[in-house]
Amino acid sequence: MKPNFQTASRVRDVRYEIRGALARRARELEQQGNDILQLNIGNPGAFGLRTPETMRRAVVRNLKYSEAYGPQTGIFPAREAVAMQFQGRGMTETTYDQVIVGNGVSELVDLVLRSLLEPGDEVLVPAPDYPLWTAAVVLNGGKAVHYRCQAEQDFIPDVEQIRARITDRTRALVVINPNNPTGAVYPESVLQALADLAAEHDLILFSDEIYDAICFDDARFVPMAPLAENTLCVSFGGLSKVYRACGWRVGWAVFTGQLERAQDYRLAVEKLSALRLSANVPGQWAVQTALGGYQSIADLVARGGRLYESRQAVIDAVERSRFLELVTPMGAMYAFPSVRADHFPDFDDHRFAAELLEQKHILIVPGSSFNIPERNHFRITLLPEAEDLERAFEKINDLLEELADE
Ligand code: PLP
Repeated sequence: MKPNFQTASRVRDVRYEIRGALARRARELEQQGNDILQLNIGNPGAFGLRTPETMRRAVVRNLKYSEAYGPQTGIFPAREAVAMQFQGRGMTETTYDQVIVGNGVSELVDLVLRSLLEPGDEVLVPAPDYPLWTAAVVLNGGKAVHYRCQAEQDFIPDVEQIRARITDRTRALVVINPNNPTGAVYPESVLQALADLAAEHDLILFSDEIYDAICFDDARFVPMAPLAENTLCVSFGGLSKVYRACGWRVGWAVFTGQLERAQDYRLAVEKLSALRLSANVPGQWAVQTALGGYQSIADLVARGGRLYESRQAVIDAVERSRFLELVTPMGAMYAFPSVRADHFPDFDDHRFAAELLEQKHILIVPGSSFNIPERNHFRITLLPEAEDLERAFEKINDLLEELADE
């Protein structure tokens, strides 16, 4: 037989296990007639959380203007709406031409890194991270240098540790706030220190803020851009999470700070965006409605709201369990529990996730998929109803009981 067709080694080196082998196995089990509780993806629509009706109407009304390609950087009303959001955040000079709209933040992450990196250039990425960032750095020839956010410090970055990882090849610093997978929401003092560090070393700050309006209790989201005027800051947001429109594939990146030094770079990003002609147009018509109108996510996040109650169910379930620990998630839509070392000194998160899927029909993501070496964590999304999460945790505990007896 002839050898296999070639696969690019740079793709082989990319890890994205949120939709990896376990998810494929879950599909097989489903095809065999099993119900699988999929806690692996933060996909609101899959859990009955609808896109606000005003946004749906905005898309439908504008469908007739959505048949042609749009401008490569996005339609004007969408860009203008994002610029106005930034004006409202104290960046009063922001104009629409600082905004680029893409097919979700995912596409823009790739565009901004592809436009930046030479082979071997380094990017500081949090660990645990949302693994798209590490994957996109690797795919674009760079090296992801991970800075650790530790459970003992509530997963808040340690600025001095980041400083120690900077080399003459470091080009950028990635910050994810509110954080996926940990649920940490960073205080302003830490964000300011990160912005100052980036400015001091001339690093581009990539601030992934896709969960900006999802903060619980007294946690408060602080945008990075106003703190980072002394470097180039690229802030990311989108319709997927806060506006529950993952399938529309609409995200944006906003360039602020030292723009006069970033003209070539921005032209490069724009050139790459031209290669894919335009982002999905229909969804862009909802951006103005989304950002300008009533923020219904607030109802879901407030005490008594769907996300709040689901989060509470997870907190309570972990508290009842003698096997589990959790840094309370203060934002985003995930929990990142760990198993206690006194019960499981050699826990294997991948094996646990595989057994949970086979035996209990629950799909989770092993913690080491988020680019940390420890194997004692797992991530679940907080999107299901509280009762479904309670039942899921009963099964998780049952399996842990069985494993503890082994
Ligand atoms: N950034 C973070 C931190 C995410 O968690 C996600 C999706 O889960 C994305 C970006 C991608 O979002 P989008 O749907 O806009 O591509």
